[in-house]
Amino acid sequence: MYAIAIHGGAGVPPKTSMTKENENAIRIALRKCLNVGEEVLRNNGTSLDAVTTSVCALEDDPLFNAGCGAVFNSKGKQEMDAAIMSGIDRDAGAVAGIFGPKNPVLAARAVMERTEHVFLIGPEALRIAKSARIPFFEREYFFTQARWTALQEALRLKKQGKCSTDPASRHGTVGAVALDVYGNLAAATSTGGMTGKSPGRVGDSPCIGSGTYADNEACAVSATGHGEEFIKCTVAAEIAARIRYKGQDVMSAASEIVEKELAARDGSGGLVAVDRFGNIAMPFNCYGMYRAYMRSGEDAVVAIY
Ligand code: ASP
Repeated sequence: MYAIAIHGGAGVPPKTSMTKENENAIRIALRKCLNVGEEVLRNNGTSLDAVTTSVCALEDDPLFNAGCGAVFNSKGKQEMDAAIMSGIDRDAGAVAGIFGPKNPVLAARAVMERTEHVFLIGPEALRIAKSARIPFFEREYFFTQARWTALQEALRLKKQGKCSTDPASRHGTVGAVALDVYGNLAAATSTGGMTGKSPGRVGDSPCIGSGTYADNEACAVSATGHGEEFIKCTVAAEIAARIRYKGQDVMSAASEIVEKELAARDGSGGLVAVDRFGNIAMPFNCYGMYRAYMRSGEDAVVAIY
């Protein structure tokens, strides 16, 4: 038995402002990014390789806020965060504020596999990525007009003391969780963060226990949303703790955190989670969340709203 769930972020516009073309393009992209991870699991690959493969595919698609579609900070720069975690031994790797690696999730994995540390930033994070022979790309590869326009709009509103109410232009993130045929869980998350963020700002995505978490005893989680609130609520670790100590199932633990705790603090967003039995939870408290999942022997499901 295996299972995989992915997300392309909670930066979903209201249904009324989503065009049919855009919705179709996103659905096709989600399906493709799910398929590559599912194929790894179907061929008896590990959950760690499955989440890596799906997140790389999501990072390579400019529709999503990660890798080549990353949003810009207030200075017009892209600073990317990513994390990966294995549920077998809670081994984890994370990077923050990096620019250059085509796939930031591979840089996070290099930290996990090639260093004695969990979290690296700055030149050392890039050095480890280079030593793992991860491809580096220039500015042109990562630039998208849509993200640049979103920044100009965010800066214009900021001057007037306002902030954008369009979630699609403000945030997004990509992530994947998986259970493999060996019973092992894994999670990975990657993001450009929030449009117009302060330089040096780090969100929840690379913070182990907030935006990313995996523990074979409980579940694997990848989150998306207003990072500051997800960090304050240690969202992913809280869900795992409820499963471990309160005996809750993954669906009720995840929806309680997202629909009650986060919502009560205006922490908009959602997450994907899978437990060791292959149960999948995908709660969100905003307009929608780009998401898809598949279990062995079942059809893939792709959803936005
Ligand atoms: N959670 C991400 C961050 O705060 C953004 C998002 O998922 O929308 O960096």
